[in-house]
Amino acid sequence: MKNNNTIYRIGIGYDLHRLVEGRNLVLGGITIPHDKGLLGHSDADVLIHAIIDAMLGALALGDIGTYFPDTDPQYKDNDSKLLLNCTIDLIRKQGWQIVNMDSTIIAEKPKLKPHITRIREILSQILEIPMDCISVKAKTNEGVGPEGKEEAISCFAVVLLSQSKDIP
Ligand code: MG
Repeated sequence: MKNNNTIYRIGIGYDLHRLVEGRNLVLGGITIPHDKGLLGHSDADVLIHAIIDAMLGALALGDIGTYFPDTDPQYKDNDSKLLLNCTIDLIRKQGWQIVNMDSTIIAEKPKLKPHITRIREILSQILEIPMDCISVKAKTNEGVGPEGKEEAISCFAVVLLSQSKDIP
């Protein structure tokens, strides 16, 4: 006789990239029309980077720079969705599943509300969990600080992982 025992791990991720002219604004795997974009070695997708750090953090596996260093030319202008897929492979190989993800993007402009559903659809496909387990919220920084002055966009994300173990 075996009892099923589910264990959980939670992780938090944070990221910030500077907003500059001449770059595409990529958030949650989609390109959003705007006169500025995020500066970074990869596509600088702060939402996906925060999700990756939350997953790695849940399992105490280090951070995004551990696996995808910004000094490595293979990640230059890289689609961060690929990095997210690699991270999911890593946690699945260790027997973990994603339960849910919650996030908050802090951006003064552009208004992200029209894009939230599409971002959740994309993340639902990559994370392979239902959209109602994926939360993407957006808020301004009330005009103060780097996000408020449109110098940067930042993001917080929390991910819950689970693993079911048979107990003899
Ligand atoms: Mg980043």
